[in-house]
Amino acid sequence: MTSFFTALDNIKRSEDGGADAWDTDSYLNIWVGRITTGVLGYSDNPTANIPDDEHGFVVGFQYFGESDHENYGMGKTAVHEIGHYLNLKHPWGSGNCDAANDWVNDTPISEDAYYGNPVHPQNSCETVDMFMNYMDYVDDSSMVMFSQGQVDRMHYALDIFRPTLQESNGCGVPYLVTQPDLLMPVQSLLLTVPYIWI
Ligand SMILES: [Zn+2]
Repeated sequence: MTSFFTALDNIKRSEDGGADAWDTDSYLNIWVGRITTGVLGYSDNPTANIPDDEHGFVVGFQYFGESDHENYGMGKTAVHEIGHYLNLKHPWGSGNCDAANDWVNDTPISEDAYYGNPVHPQNSCETVDMFMNYMDYVDDSSMVMFSQGQVDRMHYALDIFRPTLQESNGCGVPYLVTQPDLLMPVQSLLLTVPYIWI
C-alpha cells in the first residue's frame, strides 16, 4: 500500500500516486489512505491558503468508517475533520485558558486535549470540560456531540465560506452511476468519496 505524507499532501494528486479532487466547489472531498505521519487525519479549514483542488480532508484508512481499530474504529475521525472543514477549532485552542480559545461560547474552556475514555467530570481553566465533544481527542466511543454554538458556527461557515456546496448537484445522481443499488447512498450523501485503494 502506498504511503502518503501530511506535509506533502501527495494523497491529493494522482501524479503522486493519490487521487485528484473532484470539483471542490461542489464536493467535499475525502481522501482515505495510509498516512505515515502519525495523525489520524487532517483537514483544511475555510480560511486556509491552499490551492482550490486541495480542499477537503484526509483520514487514515485504519480509522475510516467502522473498523476493528481499538480506539478509533467508529468513524468519528471523519466527523472531527468535517468540523475543521467547517471552521471548528479544538476546545483547547492554542493550549491555554484564553477565553477565546475556540471562538465558540458554549464549549467550556479547556487547557489541553483529552485522550482515552475520561470519566465525567473533568476540570480545567475553572470549568467542567466538554471532553466528549467531537473536536476533542478522546476515543471514538467517548466522542458524542457538537455544541449548539459549534453547529451555528458550521452553518455560518457553509454560508460564508463554502456557499457553492449548498448549490451543488452532488446530491443528485452522477451520470456514471447506473446500478440501482448505488442510488440510495449517492442520493443520501452530500459527500463524495474518491477512495484510494493502493
Ligand atoms: Zn483536529
